[in-house]
Amino acid sequence: MEKNRIDSHKDWVDIRKDNAHVAREREKARELRNSPWWKARLAEGKCHYCGGAFNPEELTMDHVIPVARGGKSVKSNVVPACARCNKTKKHFTPAEQILNEMETSGELSPADQGWKEETK
Ligand SMILES: [Zn+2]
Repeated sequence: MEKNRIDSHKDWVDIRKDNAHVAREREKARELRNSPWWKARLAEGKCHYCGGAFNPEELTMDHVIPVARGGKSVKSNVVPACARCNKTKKHFTPAEQILNEMETSGELSPADQGWKEETK
């Protein structure tokens, strides 16, 4: 049962390893980090996952769908995350599961809801 649930999520992203994609998206992430848009996100001082308040320098850019799994460095796929959430997420949970749960429960902001389109 649980296995089927996870398998069904494979349709959402292309999980083939693609080194050119990874290199390109990492470079785009660097540019995005220097953008006024990202600096404004950091200045809000809020972790996307736990909703906690942090100093901008405590927040890191997290790819909701990891670059290595086909995620892109686009505004709808990067969020500020505190160190704890960043670590917890990598450790435990496929990004697709988090997103699906958030979407189901209506927690995704309108800006984030295009993520499935952008992974196509
Ligand atoms: Zn957090």
